[in-house]
Amino acid sequence: MRISEILAKDTVGISCELFPPKFGSQLANVKETVREMAELKPTYMSITYGATGGTSEYTIDIANEIQNVNHIPALAHLTCVSSTKEKVHSVIEQLKQSGIENILALRGDIPTDADFPLPNQYQYASELIYDIKQQGEFCIGAACYPEGHPEADSMEEDLNYLKEKVEAGCGFLTTQMFFDNSIYYNFMYKVLKKKISVPVVPGIMPVTNASQIKRIVSLSGTMAPPRFKAIVDRFADSPAAMRQAGIAYATEQIIDLIANGVNHVHIYTMNKPDVAGEILRNLSEIYIR
Ligand code: FAD
Repeated sequence: MRISEILAKDTVGISCELFPPKFGSQLANVKETVREMAELKPTYMSITYGATGGTSEYTIDIANEIQNVNHIPALAHLTCVSSTKEKVHSVIEQLKQSGIENILALRGDIPTDADFPLPNQYQYASELIYDIKQQGEFCIGAACYPEGHPEADSMEEDLNYLKEKVEAGCGFLTTQMFFDNSIYYNFMYKVLKKKISVPVVPGIMPVTNASQIKRIVSLSGTMAPPRFKAIVDRFADSPAAMRQAGIAYATEQIIDLIANGVNHVHIYTMNKPDVAGEILRNLSEIYIR
């Protein structure tokens, strides 16, 4: 099923993100994670794409497992920064062969040790989106950044390029994680002012251990609000308490979003079905599966 059809429904939906294994020896474990996650009945499941492009076959394999074995619509991520156009075309063709209809088209982070872009590469996600559009009837999504992409000089500039992605053929957007919902609400105001009218799915990350948050904040530039920092400060040394507080915080964020009219939320599960399961149990009268 196409994600755009899922997002058009006037009911609450929760989807989940997984990441693929780095090595073939971990493939069976990730497939078991897919099975456990599928039992939670998310509306769709996304599978990320390794930054170097070297593990693309695992993304295709897991997307196939999600959709054709566990019968949950799959959203396959696809980055272009470390691949030639030929390699990207071949991945798109393989997704098509597996019946995967949904692609989240991304540039990826530019490697520090490589020349970019080479002549046979896409420079921006908008170019990739345009090309995927030419290659079949895919439902294409893209990333957006409520706090601005770290490379962008201004939010205004970032939003202009976001509009280019939508005009190139992207039918929905998923946000970078945020820990303060007012950041999403402010962003939506700017998005609508730019006349970007595709659905913008908020991405929520349950932070269940303290080291995770330090890495996230330094990599993505995401702001940690004082209320969130207080939780990390208080519970960092107690893994069980940190996990419980992180699940409660993410649950509260999701409830607030839904209460304010958002119908669909994407959870960055970090391949933890137990964490996603607790959040969904907290929402059992809100997200009716
Ligand atoms: P783009 O949309 O190309 O934007 C990148 C930068 O270039 C921005 O600063 C933008 O303002 C600027 N820009 C865009 N177009 C132009 C233009 N025409 N001229 C000048 N500047 C321009 N990474 C992975 O490796 N694998 C994943 O699976 C993955 N999944 C993600 C999922 C989500 C929901 C999100 C939010 C991020 C994900 N990422 C993933 C990270 C992402 O690849 C990085 O954030 C990357 O740096 C930017 O990718 P993009 O597609 O947003 O790039």
